[in-house]
Amino acid sequence: MNVAPKTLRHLSDLEAAGLAPAEKRAALEKVAAQYAIAITPAMAELIDLADPHDPIARQFVPDAAELEVRAEERADPIGDRAHSPVEGIVHRYPDRVLLKLTHVCAVYCRFCFRREMIGPAATPLTAKQLDAALGYIATHPEIWEVVLTGGDPLVLSARRLRQVVSRLAAIAHVKVIRVHTRVPAADPARVTPELIRALKAKGKATYVVLHANHARELTDAAREACARLIDAGIPMLAQSVLLAGVNDDPQALGALMRALVECRIKPYYLHHGDLAPGTSHLRTSIGRGQELMRALHGRLSGLCQPTYVLDIPGGHGKSPIGPNYLTCDGEGRMEVEDFNGGLHCYPPTA
Ligand SMILES: *Cc1c(COP(=O)(O)O)cnc(C)c1O
Ligand code: SF4
Repeated sequence: MNVAPKTLRHLSDLEAAGLAPAEKRAALEKVAAQYAIAITPAMAELIDLADPHDPIARQFVPDAAELEVRAEERADPIGDRAHSPVEGIVHRYPDRVLLKLTHVCAVYCRFCFRREMIGPAATPLTAKQLDAALGYIATHPEIWEVVLTGGDPLVLSARRLRQVVSRLAAIAHVKVIRVHTRVPAADPARVTPELIRALKAKGKATYVVLHANHARELTDAAREACARLIDAGIPMLAQSVLLAGVNDDPQALGALMRALVECRIKPYYLHHGDLAPGTSHLRTSIGRGQELMRALHGRLSGLCQPTYVLDIPGGHGKSPIGPNYLTCDGEGRMEVEDFNGGLHCYPPTA
């Protein structure tokens, strides 16, 4: 009998799939007790068991290195709590809020910046809390955009998403609804016509931002799921996290950006790895990130250039931290660097 493959959620599942050696069980049990595990069939199938450095495995398979917490790491690395006026809302910037409907994800990323708050054990927003969150949005006319995040909002049913989207759409000052998700790649079959219809609202713009970190995540099924969204009139952007051993070389990062653009998905942000607990083995330096951005700038189409950003610890928001191509000599003269490293005065001297 053919049994449909299931999401791997327990160490025993990982061991059966050849993804966790039995001799590491004791350490991995400690990791599993702290941080949720889920690897969908679509992602598990991509893992090359013969490659000890597989970039898909590195993102989803728990690692004993997660037990090593650095002094600079923190449970709430980007300071969501300091800016949460009501449960489920993060209001850091004047014109937009995050609305966190669920703490569940299709896959759990080992580097997740909200890893202390998400997982199947975390409590979802209750009906009352959702009313309060929507009430907050309705009474703050400066809120122009609502970002559905979590957790991953696309693990919710089409019915539930339709309810939330239509309630948001009823708020006149909300013009843009943005969904941050891994689902189109991690579980493409969830992107059904019904789910797509649920995300759309008359007179409002819906954007979907795909979280993807390696070109291999864009399987044929993932590409088709994204095409369904885009063909339905939903523009797509992508956000990626700079990860050691996954995409921290010009080849892998460039291939990811190109694969996204080929799918009509515009790379939006490349996030520097947040200071989430037990994630130092997956972080690079900012210097390395800037070098990689320089490599992209030289080699790839402008469509393939994301903005490299740091979410400033403590809740101060994101700022671009990409390389600087413009210098000033103190006497008002400027020098601009071209993509080959050549320097040019601006304005040009005669
Ligand atoms: C990242 C983030 C946003 C979205 O920021 P953009 O720069 O518009 O993509 C909004 N609110 C909060 C709290 C965020 O952390
Ligand atoms: S999908 Fe997003 S919220 Fe969920 S584990 Fe990955 S990074 Fe965290």
